[in-house]
Amino acid sequence: MNGDRLLDVVAIDGPSGSGKSTIAKRLAERLGWRHLDTGAMYRAVTLRFLELGVHLEDPKEVRSALESLDLRLGEEAEVYLEGREVGSALRRPEVEARVSAVSALPAVRKAMVALQRAEAGKGPLVAEGRDMTTVVFPDARCRIFLEASVEERARRRLRDFERASREVGFSEVLEEIRARDFLDSTRADAPLRKAEGVHVLDTTGLSIEACVDRIERILREGASR
Ligand code: C5P
Repeated sequence: MNGDRLLDVVAIDGPSGSGKSTIAKRLAERLGWRHLDTGAMYRAVTLRFLELGVHLEDPKEVRSALESLDLRLGEEAEVYLEGREVGSALRRPEVEARVSAVSALPAVRKAMVALQRAEAGKGPLVAEGRDMTTVVFPDARCRIFLEASVEERARRRLRDFERASREVGFSEVLEEIRARDFLDSTRADAPLRKAEGVHVLDTTGLSIEACVDRIERILREGASR
């Protein structure tokens, strides 16, 4: 798929619980492309900042934590922090509660965007997050915005938490999602928004496979234009 200026990237954005991670993972498997979960990267930075006790309002502390950050991604979308695989720690409640504040910091975003673009230099990617279609990969071959009703997204999150044996109520999850939606879409730097020209896909009531089929079709149709 070369010969034009588009990157071999499927860029997927959407709010929490819109199905991004599951859909991106499945699509990457089908295409034989790598899966880049940028939410996991922001969660890993948040975990590191919590470990170091970084004060977000102190630019010097933020800068020094970013300079010493050892964040690497594995072939299967594993995240390594300081050489440790941190997968399950990224879903801890304290990470969940802080990630939107950490990811709103321009210095943090600058560092992550550089890492994410470098990943695209290594081969084709299915990249998911909040600013894939707008800031990181505006020149992606295929750009998708996923959405779903807030209640559906809260139900999905609740199922994830139950699987992880975390006891929370529906209304708590709903509030958490609303708060994160607000922070992610109103921040000054790279807010979550629907860029012009993206394909919008409402995943409410659709199966994972049906969503993946649609995106694959959009990718193939774009490629044959
Ligand atoms: O997708 P996930 O829920 O794991 O993302 C966690 C948080 O990371 C989001 O709520 C958002 O604050 C931040 N994020 C971001 N930009 C991205 C991906 C995630 O700001 N590209």
